[in-house]
Amino acid sequence: MQQQQLHDISPWNQNNDDLLTVTEQQVDEFKTNYENFQQQQDKYKKQKVIKVNTINCRGETRLIRKLISKYNWKEVFNDGDICMLGLPFKQQNYDEYFTQSVNRFPGMDLLAHKTQSSFYLNKFAQYFPDEYQFFPKTYIIPDEFDKFQKEYKSTRTYIAKPDAGSQGDGIYLIKNLKDIKNYESIVIQSYISKPLLIDKKKFDLRLYVLITSLDPYICYINKEGLARFCTVDYEKPNDKNIKNPFMHLTNYSLNKRNTNFQVYNGQNILDINEGTKRTYSSIKKNLEILGYNNKDIEDEIETLVVAYLKSLLPFLEFNQKLVFQKRVSEVKCFQVLGFDILLDEKGKPWLLEVNSNPSLQIEHEVFQANGKSVFEESLIDSYVKELVVGDAIKLAMMSKEDQEELQGFESYKKLDIDQSETIFSKIMQIYGFLSGYKFQEYLTSSKFQKLASFPQMISQTFLKHDYDLLFRKIILRSCNTNLMDFFQFINAIEQLADKLNQDLEEMLDRIIQNF
Ligand code: ADP
Repeated sequence: MQQQQLHDISPWNQNNDDLLTVTEQQVDEFKTNYENFQQQQDKYKKQKVIKVNTINCRGETRLIRKLISKYNWKEVFNDGDICMLGLPFKQQNYDEYFTQSVNRFPGMDLLAHKTQSSFYLNKFAQYFPDEYQFFPKTYIIPDEFDKFQKEYKSTRTYIAKPDAGSQGDGIYLIKNLKDIKNYESIVIQSYISKPLLIDKKKFDLRLYVLITSLDPYICYINKEGLARFCTVDYEKPNDKNIKNPFMHLTNYSLNKRNTNFQVYNGQNILDINEGTKRTYSSIKKNLEILGYNNKDIEDEIETLVVAYLKSLLPFLEFNQKLVFQKRVSEVKCFQVLGFDILLDEKGKPWLLEVNSNPSLQIEHEVFQANGKSVFEESLIDSYVKELVVGDAIKLAMMSKEDQEELQGFESYKKLDIDQSETIFSKIMQIYGFLSGYKFQEYLTSSKFQKLASFPQMISQTFLKHDYDLLFRKIILRSCNTNLMDFFQFINAIEQLADKLNQDLEEMLDRIIQNF
C-alpha cells in the first residue's frame, strides 16, 4: 500500500487528475508521502564515487567521460565498479562479469539481426495475438516468401529491409511483387502508410529501456527520448515518391545528407522547435496542441514495451545460463535498449525495431557549404543520453533489493512485468534439459530424439525414427547441417505437437512434469 501511494505521487505518474478535488486530510497525506518519496530518492542520490572502467568503450567514450566529470566519478582502466563495453558481449570479457557490473547481457546482439528478431516477434504475435498488435505484419524471406506471395495485397505498400542492415541501409518500399530485388535474407513488413505528422513530416521515436536484473526481472523506461524527423514533407507512397528516402525513412544518418536538414542547437530543447532531431518532451507539447492524449500514448507504449520484455526474458535467461552456467547468480549485467516507435495518425504506437546497441554518440556531423563536414556536440543528444546512461549507471550500482523497493529513480520509471511462465519459457526449459546439464547453444539429432522417451511422445503415425527425419527437415536450410538452434527448435516442437495431434501447451507441460 505504502509503495502504491509513493508511486501515485511519483513524477513518472502524470495522471494526478483526481488530486484536483481533495480533502485537507488527503493533502496532508499527499505531503507526507511526497516527503517520504523525496527522502527515499535523496538517499539513493547520495552515492559513493563510482569507478567507471572505460577501456572497452567505443562511440560512447565522450558521453561517459562527460558523466564522470559531471558526477565526480572516477575513470579507471582496470577493474572498477562498472565496465562499459562498446561492443556486444564476447567470451573474452567473461572474467569482467564477476568483478564489476557490465552493460551487456550475453545474447542480446540477436536483436541486430532483423530476421531473427522478427522471427521471435512473429512467434509472440502468433501465441499472444491480442498483446502483439503493435508489431507490423512481417515476413522472413526467403523462408516465408510463399506465405508473403499468398497474403500480398496490391493495394498495400510494404517495406523491405536487409537482415543485418542498419541506419536505413538497403531499405526500399514495395508496391509490386516484382519490385523485390532479391530475396536473400531480408524481412518484408507492412508499411505504416498513415504516420502521425508534425510540421507535415514523418518522424519516429527512439525511447530507452533499461534492464538491470533478470532474477528478479527489473526493467525501466526513461521518460525522455529522441524524435527523428524526415526532411521532406510526407505524402502517401506513390510511384513518384516511393524511392525518396528523405520522405519515408526517418533515419538520422540518412536525413543529415539532405539540404533541408536542420540542426537545432538552441537552448529550448524541451520546447517545440524546428529541428530534424528533437526531444520526446518537445514532441509531447506538439502532440498536445494537435489534440492527442499523451497519457494514452505513453500507456500504450509502456504496454508494448512490457509485452516485448516479457517475451525476451526466457531468451536472456537461457543465454546467461549458457555463458555463465553455475556462476550465473554471481554476475551483474545491465543494458540500455533503444526502442524505435512510429506513431500512426491515430496516435497508435508501432514497434519498428529494438536496438541492442543504441547510438550513444553526443556529437553530430554538420555539413558546411563547401561540402566538408565537422563534428559538433549536439545539445539534444547530450541532454537525452546523459539522462539515459547516467541514471542507468546509478541504478546499476544499486542493490536489487533497493531497486525492488523503488518505483523509479531519477529519469527512469520502473515497469511492472508479470513474470509468470510463458510458452517460450517452457520451450526454453525443455531445450535446456535436452542439451544436458550444461546449457548448449545447439542440439544434435540424438539429443532431440530424447523427446521420444517422454510419455505420449510417439504415436502410430509418428515413431521414434521420425524424430531424426523431422530434425533433418528443420535444419535443412541452415549452414550448420548437424545442429539445431533455439529458433529451429521452436519450429520443431510446434511441428511435433502437430504431428502427434496434441495441444502444444499441454504437451510442453507434460514433458516438463516428467523431467
Ligand atoms: P534500420 O535498422 O536500418 O534503421 P528500421 O527498421 O529502423 O531499419 O527502418 C528504418 C526506417 O524506415 C525507420 O526509422 C522508419 O522511418 C522506416 N520504417 C521502417 N519500418 C517501417 C514500417 N513498417 N512502416 C513505416 N515506416 C517504416
